[in-house]
Amino acid sequence: MRVLIRGAGVAGLTLAHELARQGVAVTITDIRADAAGGASWLAGGMLAPWCERESAEAPVLTLGRVAADWWDSALPGPPPRHVTRNGTLVVAPARDVGELARFAARTGGHDWLDSAGVAALEPDLAGRFQRGLFFPGEAHLDPRRALVALRHRLVAMGVKVHFGSETVFRADVEADCTGMAAQDAALRGVRGEMLILHAPDVTLSRPVRLLHPRIPLYIVPRADQRFMVGATMIESDDPGPISARSMMELLNAAYSLHPGFGEAKIVETGVGIRPAYADNLPRVTRTQRGVRVNGLYRHGFLLSPAMARQAAAMILSVEVPVC
Ligand SMILES: Cc1cc2nc3c(=O)[nH]c(=O)nc-3n(C[C@H](O)[C@H](O)[C@H](O)COP(=O)(O)OP(=O)(O)OC[C@H]3O[C@@H](n4cnc5c(N)ncnc54)[C@H](O)[C@@H]3O)c2cc1C
Repeated sequence: MRVLIRGAGVAGLTLAHELARQGVAVTITDIRADAAGGASWLAGGMLAPWCERESAEAPVLTLGRVAADWWDSALPGPPPRHVTRNGTLVVAPARDVGELARFAARTGGHDWLDSAGVAALEPDLAGRFQRGLFFPGEAHLDPRRALVALRHRLVAMGVKVHFGSETVFRADVEADCTGMAAQDAALRGVRGEMLILHAPDVTLSRPVRLLHPRIPLYIVPRADQRFMVGATMIESDDPGPISARSMMELLNAAYSLHPGFGEAKIVETGVGIRPAYADNLPRVTRTQRGVRVNGLYRHGFLLSPAMARQAAAMILSVEVPVC
């Protein structure tokens, strides 16, 4: 069977991996000239099913628990590995400490920390927060490194990858993984604005979420003292540049977490549009030509492994359509 996957974001690449490892001949096409720019490129890379349960339905936890293991096995190699399993730290400014109790009540898989516990996990935050929540089962990765590595791995497995092309390739089945570009009236866009800061004075070992009643934000450490600061959640599919207000809120959050972010350089601003269905859960659906994987919302890296498995099973049981 030959499968054509349209879209080389995280949905398309994870599906390609599930199919290729089962011996299916896969071609991926993407209309972009390279991987940069899609929602997947802008992601934080948190694999945080327990934290996400705060605002998400139960399947996000049940399906998301396999994600860190999936990424580890799909991207083998010597250290440094792609998946960092250091958990997630959740803190709140003193005036919003009630938000921590609310967050704890809506989630599981966490331990309460006092000030010393916060400092033991993240020495740079010593003395800054009286209480915190630690989610030890969570992980994170650098989405850009992971996407590039997965693409190289796919090529090594025999998958053909074409960027900058809408060429029609002969295939028995097509998989639509085109994110917001999909012809699906049920999809809506949720705008996410983010920054990448270079902060030589700050060291963090894990994603840190800063709770706030209006603007909960997070900071994800990357290599070379870079930090992804994200992300807004705006009901809009406007891909235009980051607004001044969002930029100020993101920078304020970073600065209130650690004053060392005041000296940081802003090395990038970005806007990604998360594709979402009304229930904010992803779907694998049959189409005339094969399947569609979409609606990954704010859980692309977390849920695409489970969605890819479902889609691959559907494709391998699909009667070959004419296309
Ligand atoms: C700021 C931000 C932070 C996020 N943080 C996280 C996080 O920490 N953890 C997490 O799990 N998720 C996170 N997400 C969510 C995640 O990024 C998305 O759920 C995911 O990227 C959606 O992946 P996708 O492959 O469906 O879409 P995309 O990544 O948008 O990929 C779709 C691809 O299809 C291509 N395409 C479009 N039309 C065509 C066509 N006709 N033919 C071929 N190709 C086409 C596009 O060029 C694009 O490359 C975040 C998202 C944002 C915006």
